Amino acid sequence: MKQGLLIVLSGPSGVGKGTMYSRLLTVMPDLTVSVSATTRKPRAGEKDGVQYYFMSEKQFAEKRARGEFLEWAETVGNYYGTPKAPVLATLGSGRDVLLEIDVKGARQIKAAYPDCVTIFILPPSDTELEHRLKGRGTESDSQVRARLELAKSEIAQSGYFDYRVVNDDLERAVGEVADIICKIKGDKKC
Ligand code: ADP
Ligand code: 5GP
Repeated sequence: MKQGLLIVLSGPSGVGKGTMYSRLLTVMPDLTVSVSATTRKPRAGEKDGVQYYFMSEKQFAEKRARGEFLEWAETVGNYYGTPKAPVLATLGSGRDVLLEIDVKGARQIKAAYPDCVTIFILPPSDTELEHRLKGRGTESDSQVRARLELAKSEIAQSGYFDYRVVNDDLERAVGEVADIICKIKGDKKC
């Protein structure tokens, strides 16, 4: 059976990656989104096993030591990792998998799986990124500052990605991501 396509969506915190992939799923319902593990505390409304598998640093370190992550990284003070077994099983069954991960993780995945497609999401401007991150209201002022600081170095690495998409208008940006995926898959329906 033909392997599914591994799609990596990355970009600074607050740029709209989560919003984009939720919308993308309505356009491409056959896509499977990988659920990452994290040591970050759940935000209001987040449920274990849905947005993330929330765990302690000890649990995360044990999984990492057992080689259970496809990639992992420490970012903005927490650990994040992609569970390996479900991703490989889904790809093996011919279904496409989307990872929404940070730049360090995306670069690890590209090195290990060169056939994957990496897409970097850019904000229309620095001011708009700050506006979205603050507007989301999920991080403290110091966490917002740390995420904006990190965003500069992440955006500086956007050249390592196969594609760059500006999330200006949501529908337009999601359409562009869908077109990229369709083009790679040679899907005539797109
Ligand atoms: P990320 O997953 O990249 O951290 P989110 O998806 O949580 O970002 O989006 C951050 C904030 O920006 C949210 O409040 C979301 O509603 C808003 N947002 C996302 N995309 C757009 C867009 N195209 N235009 C305006 N606001 C957006
Ligand atoms: P947040 O705390 O806002 O949900 O995510 C913070 C950052 O962690 C985002 O850049 C997000 O893409 C990244 N992230 C989420 N899951 C993973 C993962 O499994 N691996 C890596 N490397 N980064 C992740």
